[in-house]
Amino acid sequence: MSPRPAPPEVDRVAAAKAAVAARRARAAVKNSVADRSRTALDVAETGWNDPASAEATLRVTELLTSIPTLGPTRVAKLMDTLAISDRKRVGGLGSRQRVKLREYLVTRAGGEPARLVVLAGPTAVGKGTVSAYIRENYPDVLLSVSATTRSPRPGEVDGVHYYFVSDEEFDRKIAAGELLEWATVHNSYRYGTPRPPIDEALAAGRRVLLEIDLQGARLVRQAMPEAILVFLLPPTWEELVRRLIGRGTEDAAEQSRRLETAKVEMAAQDEFDVKVVNHDVSEAAREVVELMAVPISH
Ligand code: 5GP
Repeated sequence: MSPRPAPPEVDRVAAAKAAVAARRARAAVKNSVADRSRTALDVAETGWNDPASAEATLRVTELLTSIPTLGPTRVAKLMDTLAISDRKRVGGLGSRQRVKLREYLVTRAGGEPARLVVLAGPTAVGKGTVSAYIRENYPDVLLSVSATTRSPRPGEVDGVHYYFVSDEEFDRKIAAGELLEWATVHNSYRYGTPRPPIDEALAAGRRVLLEIDLQGARLVRQAMPEAILVFLLPPTWEELVRRLIGRGTEDAAEQSRRLETAKVEMAAQDEFDVKVVNHDVSEAAREVVELMAVPISH
C-alpha cells in the first residue's frame, strides 16, 4: 500500500490554525461554565443542536469538571452512572446518553441550591473550631447536632455540642431509622447524624452543615448525592501533628490511634468536592458557608 500523499502545505497551515481556534473556543466554553455565566445544560443543548459548534466538540468530562462544586471524583462516578466513556464528546453522545445527561443537568439546573454541606477532614484539623465559628457567626446555618455514645468533655453541653446517649439509646435510634448516617469513630464510640432536623431545615429552605468523620461523609454522599463534601486540610502535616498532640485531652495511646486515623483520612482528600485549607478559622468558615449559597449547576 502506498502512503497517503501529504496534504498541501497551505491545507496543513489552515488545519493547524483551525485546531488552535477550536481549542480556544472550547476553553472559552469551559470558562463560561466555571464562572457561571452559562449553565452546563445550555452548553450541552447548544452542542446537540449544532454538531459543528465548539460545544459539540467538548468532551463530556471537561464539561462536567467545569461545573463549580463538581470535583474530579464525582465526575468520574457520574460518568460511570451515566454510562458515558471518558473520551466521548458532547456531540458524539448517543440518544440514550443524551437523555440521561440532560436529565441530570436539568435536575441540577432547576433544582435547589446545594444547601447541605458536609465538613470532614483529618482528626484535629480544626473541624470543630470551624463549625463552632459558623455556629456563632452564621446563625441562620443549621449546624447538625450529632448523637454520640462518648461522654461529654469539660464544657460540652448536651443538646448543643452533642446529644450524649447510652449504647441502648443509640441502638434504638438506628433501629427507628432516625439516623441519616452513623459510624464508629477511632474504633471506640459511635456517632450519628439525626435525620429529622435536617429534613425539616432543608424543607424550610435553610442551609445545613454536618461536621462528621470520613465514613459518615461517604454515607451521606450515598444517601444525599446533592450534598457538597468539603475536606478541611491542615496548612501542613507537621501542623496537624502539633495540633493533635497539643490538644492534650487524650492519653498517649489515644493520640497515636488518632494519628493513624489522620494519616488514612488525609489519603481520602481526593474523594471530596472541595478542599479548604484551615490557615485561619474565620476565613475557612467563610469559604465553607459561601459554598452553601452557590446554586449547584451554575
Ligand atoms: P470528637 O469525639 O472529638 O468530638 O469527635 C470525633 C470524631 O467524630 C470527629 O472526627 C467528628 O467529625 C466525628 N463525628 C462527630 N459527629 C459525627 C456524626 O454524627 N457522624 C459521624 N460519622 N462522625 C461524627
